[in-house]
Amino acid sequence: MRPFKYTSESDPTIAIKIVSTNPTAKYLGGGTNLVDLMKEDVMRPSELIDVTRWKFSKIEKTKSGVSIGANATNAITANEEIIREDYPLLSMAILAGASAQIRNMATNGGNLNQRTRCTYFYDVNMPCNKREPGTGCAAVNGENKNHAIFGWSEKCIATYPSDMAVALAALDAVVHVESLNNTIRSIPFADFHRLPGDHPEKDNTLKHGEFITSIGLPKNQFAEKSYYLKIRERSSYAFALVSVAAALVTDADMIKEVRIALGGVAHKPWRASVAEKWLIGKQATETNFRAAASAELKNAKPLQHNKYKVGLAIKAIVRALEGAMLGGVYGTMEADSLNKNQDHERNR
Ligand code: SF4
Repeated sequence: MRPFKYTSESDPTIAIKIVSTNPTAKYLGGGTNLVDLMKEDVMRPSELIDVTRWKFSKIEKTKSGVSIGANATNAITANEEIIREDYPLLSMAILAGASAQIRNMATNGGNLNQRTRCTYFYDVNMPCNKREPGTGCAAVNGENKNHAIFGWSEKCIATYPSDMAVALAALDAVVHVESLNNTIRSIPFADFHRLPGDHPEKDNTLKHGEFITSIGLPKNQFAEKSYYLKIRERSSYAFALVSVAAALVTDADMIKEVRIALGGVAHKPWRASVAEKWLIGKQATETNFRAAASAELKNAKPLQHNKYKVGLAIKAIVRALEGAMLGGVYGTMEADSLNKNQDHERNR
């Protein structure tokens, strides 16, 4: 690891000034991703400002819904009563991520700032536009089994790894940030993470020096019918091949409102807006879920090694919506098991 300066600054105003005036300074939260990247020499900050002693860790009800402090850990957030009762989709998604030890360390702000797990991004001997702009993308003609099927560019085909972010996308969260001179702004979640385009080195729309203070969740009626399904190659400590955050409001099985967001398929959490529109006003049946999922996946552009994700995502959307209709039970599944179960069901 390269030498760097470490500062634990308890005054956010001073810390924001330090980071804003040093282009290679970074905030340090739980460090569960950043420190790994520094050890691998992928990220080389000259200065880390430890923010873990700041405030910004409250989780509380507000007039419009709930505010989640950026410095609260993932574990505390997932187990907080307000979140478990009013936003169970978020609890399920967080608990599907990483491991208990990591969730105890990782902060909510850090979760949104984590970086792709593309193996070429981690390998400093390989070309990677995200790590070193202009060097090329080793994954385009390399091993791309885990890469994107939506929204990728020739410059980068990576996916975004967070489970929490998929639920936040489905729940229409808002990210509140602070910068120099106590300037604050709010970023709708759909605009927070970005597609790679010509600048895959930028994962999100935060400006250098801006600090995430909290995440706002608007009130909704999804608590009774929501479900997070994560398909992965082993049952813990693995990133999603495909994941689905699904939530519904129904009236006598007629769909009044529906939210579907996908993980593991794009450079950002992918809101399945085609499927959502298709389902409004329809009966909540497996046939309709499958038709809506198929309509969404018609727009997918799979790569050489990840065509399997198209069929997998259709099955996962159907299963997640069915799980939501059943009242939402925490769900995580290995890819083989989903394929076998679905084949079995179809053959009955
Ligand atoms: Fe780098 Fe993106 Fe290509 Fe992976 S997919 S090698 S992160 S540019």
